[in-house]
Amino acid sequence: MTKSKSVFSPLSSILIANRGEIASRIIRTCKKMGIRSIAVYSDADRDAPFVNEANTAIYVGESSPVKSYLDIDKIIAAAKKSGSDAIHPGYGFLSENATFARRCKKEGIIFIGPNPEAIDAMGSKSNAKALMEKHGVPTVPGYKGKDQLDATLTAEANKIGYPVLLKATAGGGGKGMRIVNNENEIKNAIAAAKRESKSAFGDDELIVEKYIQSGRHIEFQIFGDKHGNAIHLLERECSIQRRYQKVMEESPSPILSAELRAEMGKAAVDAAKALNYDNAGTVEFIFDEFSNEFYFLEVNTRLQVEHPVTEEVTGLDLVKMQIESAQGKPLLISQEQVIGNGYAIELRLYAEDPSNNFLPVTGNILKFETPQVDGLRVESAVESGSEISVYYDPMIAKLIVWDINRENAMRKMAYVLRNLVCTGTTTNQDFLLKLVEHPDVIAGKYDTHFISKELDKLIKGVIDLKGINIPAIASTLFRWSHRNQNQQVLKSIPSGWRNSFYSYQFEEYSVGEEKIKIEYKFARNKFDIKVGEETYVVSLQDISEDKISFQLDGVLYKFSISKNGNNYFTHNEIFGNSKLTLLDRLPEKEQEKIKGGYISPMPSQIVKVLVKTGDKVNAGDGLVILSSMKMESTITAEEDGVVKEVYVKDGQNVEADYLLIELNTDE
Ligand code: ADP
Ligand code: ADP
Ligand code: MG
Repeated sequence: MTKSKSVFSPLSSILIANRGEIASRIIRTCKKMGIRSIAVYSDADRDAPFVNEANTAIYVGESSPVKSYLDIDKIIAAAKKSGSDAIHPGYGFLSENATFARRCKKEGIIFIGPNPEAIDAMGSKSNAKALMEKHGVPTVPGYKGKDQLDATLTAEANKIGYPVLLKATAGGGGKGMRIVNNENEIKNAIAAAKRESKSAFGDDELIVEKYIQSGRHIEFQIFGDKHGNAIHLLERECSIQRRYQKVMEESPSPILSAELRAEMGKAAVDAAKALNYDNAGTVEFIFDEFSNEFYFLEVNTRLQVEHPVTEEVTGLDLVKMQIESAQGKPLLISQEQVIGNGYAIELRLYAEDPSNNFLPVTGNILKFETPQVDGLRVESAVESGSEISVYYDPMIAKLIVWDINRENAMRKMAYVLRNLVCTGTTTNQDFLLKLVEHPDVIAGKYDTHFISKELDKLIKGVIDLKGINIPAIASTLFRWSHRNQNQQVLKSIPSGWRNSFYSYQFEEYSVGEEKIKIEYKFARNKFDIKVGEETYVVSLQDISEDKISFQLDGVLYKFSISKNGNNYFTHNEIFGNSKLTLLDRLPEKEQEKIKGGYISPMPSQIVKVLVKTGDKVNAGDGLVILSSMKMESTITAEEDGVVKEVYVKDGQNVEADYLLIELNTDE
């Protein structure tokens, strides 16, 4: 024992019992603090960015969370194996599990979170409300008794007055919640809420609350240390939700007056003190715009998904503060020193399909590229090539922007959404764009029902965004260019070509329910394109492996394109994202190719036709000499046969893929 041992727990390595963006986020602060970081990973996450970013990573089992990230024994064993002093649980998974927090303590590992008693106290919505009432924090009027008979719950609902909200006592993530508009609905609603709650949390106790019809979700970040200090770090408004789940979060709230902020902030700190709260947490309130009343909803005893919004306006590193509090260090700032600066907004980018009831989608993120924007912070779980698996929440990234005021921040967010490239799978990117461009969102006029009320408009906006002709043209030109070995070919095309030399080729795509046919021909360095009744003249500007740009009607369009099988994912700042599925058309030409047809590999001039109809040829015999890119090449027979038809003559100019000659090969 040395005399100079610090009073604070030593801490040199942290195991992160989580995955995805939050693991990356925690690792970043570890690096900043000179703390060794240890990731844990399941089968599905073997190649995830966070595993790479940590100093070491420990495999903890199969992809299903119960077999890995939720398995307490495995997580503890990984901490011991890696010599970790502490565990950061992130959010979700074991973050609000008091048994886990106690187990860490027992094993001599620091749990980076609040004391287990606080977690326990807030784990049940009924206990939480009771405790808050005792400490003078306003709660939503309602029933939270042990008697769970239908008749009792119904009588209580009648007493509260409809509409009421049924909630799972053990709930979270919006599960087990049901709005009940009148007594006729309550029987079924109780049954459904109990069923959902039982299956999600293994417990079917319900509470009944007055339903706040025009509610806004306003929450306060709280922070405590082990020395009895507790402060709040201002609010976040998270009223833009879908099925009780947050979609957009911002700070400060566009509707909070300084007086209300002070009043709610005090209530949040009272809540923290009631819990002897000693780490990061969030006190959630529902705010009634009509009565100007606010009510306590719950405390999330962990770091929240939306914590970056608070970090951006306060300039604090919440993960660093969490680590220091867990070590026993006192808070370094006082309430008066917490000053909000500017405006921050966060949006959650998900692999989901808004036009299909927001169903999560799996798949590969072929390209993930964020625009260079001052004040943009991206907390991402992926990189180009990452897979979105079926096992976890389909969040791809959190997009956070900061600016000096809300108007600037909103505009910046729209810009980010227009210029972010995330292709390879369907995402909610265009939906989010419509959201932040909605006049009511821009004006800050919304409540928790905003998305459901405006859903049709938001979804329709996404569809309108996608005039599909131009993205389909982009895909066709992209495919054409790649077939034709890139720009060099284009530059060397003789300028005197005449379009009558060959006819239109076509491609067909399906886009959602619709089909689109692109007819095109290349002439005089330009493409003549027909899509239905529309005609376009397009000239290629540049192409690369995953980008194409072209001029159309005096506008230079830039597209990012990723190909996955027959699917072409296009992105453009005006048209947003489109997914085009190339339809297998087996055109005559290609069918004949199977039967012995020979096509031009690129736009060429026919130098000499070496055979005529009826000629017998042997494999390897020359058929046609072509010239392109100032080089001559000979198309030769791949097998023995008889020339069935010759489609070209000397001196003729042909497009790529043009059928030149057909052989009968007898097989
Ligand atoms: P927040 O208010 O921070 O959004 P939520 O209650 O919505 O908190 O949950 C936080 C995140 O944790 C969500 O992204 C959710 O999908 C995830 N999550 C919650 N519970 C679990 C769990 N048991 N396993 C995995 N992820 C979870
Ligand atoms: P969870 O644990 O699922 O996060 P919360 O109690 O925090 O449950 O509620 C989630 C969301 O449900 C809130 O953000 C709010 O939109 C809505 N909500 C909850 N309680 C009420 C209420 N009494 N009246 C109106 N809306 C409510
Ligand atoms: Mg909540």
